[in-house]
Order: sequence, then C-alpha cells, then structure tokens
Amino acid sequence: MKEINFTPKLTGLFGHPVSENPTVLMIESAFKSLKLDNWRYITLDVPADNLEQAIDTIRLFKMRGVHLTIPHKVEAIKHVDVITKEAEMIGAINTIVNDNGKLTGYNTDGKGFMTSLQKDAKIVELKSKKAMILGSGGAARAIAVELAIEGINSLTIVNRTEKRGLDLINDLQRFDDLNLNFRLWDHEIDINDIDILIQATSIGLYPNKDLPKIQYDQLTQNMLTCDLIPNPAITPFLKKCESNNARLLDGLGMLVYQGAIAFELWTKRSPSTDIMKRSLETFFQNN
Ligand code: NDP
Repeated sequence: MKEINFTPKLTGLFGHPVSENPTVLMIESAFKSLKLDNWRYITLDVPADNLEQAIDTIRLFKMRGVHLTIPHKVEAIKHVDVITKEAEMIGAINTIVNDNGKLTGYNTDGKGFMTSLQKDAKIVELKSKKAMILGSGGAARAIAVELAIEGINSLTIVNRTEKRGLDLINDLQRFDDLNLNFRLWDHEIDINDIDILIQATSIGLYPNKDLPKIQYDQLTQNMLTCDLIPNPAITPFLKKCESNNARLLDGLGMLVYQGAIAFELWTKRSPSTDIMKRSLETFFQNN
C-alpha cells in the first residue's frame, strides 16, 4: 500500500515587498513537469525586522529551503549556520538549504549569470576577456566574484558612489591574477577595449527609459552587452546597444538559471529551464 503523507515539502521566497515577484510560477512549473506533486513554493512577505523569526520557521516547519530577495540577502547571513565560500566573498545569500535543521546559505545569482553567459551567449572562454560592470550593488558583486573565480582577465567596476565601488574592488583584491580598475561614474564612460559590458543597475527599469551614461559610439559587433533587468527583457539599454551593432544578453536567462540552481539544491533534480523560462515569459507578456 502507498504511504499516506499529507505534509508537503515546503520551499518559498522571503522578501519585502514581494507580492509581485513571479518566481513561484517558474519553480512550480518545474515541480509540475518533474511530477514532484508533494512540493510547494510559497511567497512570503517578511519585513526586515522579522527575518530572524522567519528563518527560525524554516527549521520549525522543516522547510527544505527558501529564496531570499530584497531586503534580506545580506542580513540573512547572520541567521544561517554556514555559507559557501562564494557567498562569503559576495557578502550576500539568495538561497537557503535546510539539511535536517542545518541551514546553509548559497548565492546562485552570479552562477545564474555565468550559466546564461555560457548557454545563451555561448561564451565559454574567459581568460582572455575584459569585462566592465556598471554598478556595485548585490547583483554586480555576485557577478564580479564569479567572473573572478572563472579567471577573467580584467574587470572594470563603474559606480556612482565611490565608496561602494571601491569596497567591491577591495574585496576582489584576493584574486591575484585579476587586473582591476575602478571608474567613478560622473561622465560618459569610455568602453573601448571591453569584451563584455554588464549593466547591473536599475537604470531603465520599466517604466523608466533612462540610458546608462557610456560612449555608445564605441560599441562594436564583437562586444557582448548584458542587462540584468529581466522584464521587459529588451531594455532601453539593450535596444540602444543593438542599434550600435553589439551582441545582446538579457536578464531573463540569469533569473531562470539562478532559480534552477536553487531548485536543484533543494530537490536534487534537474529542472527544465525551457519550461521555467516559458512560464516567466508568459507572465511577463500578459502583465
Ligand atoms: P542594488 O540596489 O544592490 O544596487 C544598485 C546599483 O545600481 C548600485 O550600484 C547603484 O549605485 C546603481 N544605481 C542605481 N540607480 C542608479 C543611477 N540612476 N545612476 C547610476 N547608478 C545607479 O541592486 P541589485 O544589485 O540587487 O540589482 C541591480 C539590478 O539587477 C536591478 O535592476 C535588478 O532588477 C537586477 N537583478 C536581476 C537579477 C536577475 O536574475 N536577472 C537578479 C538580481 C538583480 P550607487 O551605489 O551609487 O547607489
């Protein structure tokens, strides 16, 4: 006889505000396609002051794990038992895994970007590449650390607030062979000699149509330009880069792959990223 068990395997998302975050759609589409009928993903509004209590409930309700989003990615580190080496270097976690009460914090954002770089943009070799990151926030930090780990030749960090940019540069000094540069973002940035340009700020987030200040006339067809904003996938920045003949990588891939990596950590199953991506595209098209 089949064992009866009405207690689901729980996963979810802690954030604030979070009600418009569509991650549930892509994770549940993956549960469904793998016939993981007993798994659930719940979106939970957790104000900053309640984060510690919320993390305790992961243990209490034997949740398998959660995603973390704004504003919890940095603060949550204090409340888990251990974090990965990458998460420590990044200084933020976006995924928690619960192994019988022991909570491990991961950061899958940067790895999600790296997977998109390989699978969607077909960039596999980084040792000869020069990248520039616009921004020094959480997403920029995650990507910078993963590019450094993968041995990128040089990394130029561009940020409006000098201290934040220099803090990131300082944290990257541990990578001995990495050529590091910082540019204060108070003028149109020279992008000559850059292979991969990554827009990691919220400039151009819908309905805003602003463009990051860079010298667009220096773009070439050999340059890959990336924007992390996932919706709409073709942002004003990417449109402008396309009209200057550059190659494009949108932020939807990163969003899907970071979710797929978290999904694998929780379920130990490999989800279909095509199905996950389609669920988000459908949502974005209709909303
Ligand atoms: P943070 O708030 O941590 O960092 C924001 C960064 O953008 C800072 O460096 C900030 O500079 C800069 N910035 C914001 N506005 C401006 C402006 N007007 N001019 C110049 N610089 C500006 O955000 P995140 O790193 O978490 O997110 C950044 C972007 O990445 C967002 O658009 C987010 O949607 C996207 N993202 C996408 C993900 C995906 O999976 N596709 C995952 C995570 C994020 P300063 O330090 O000077 O304030």
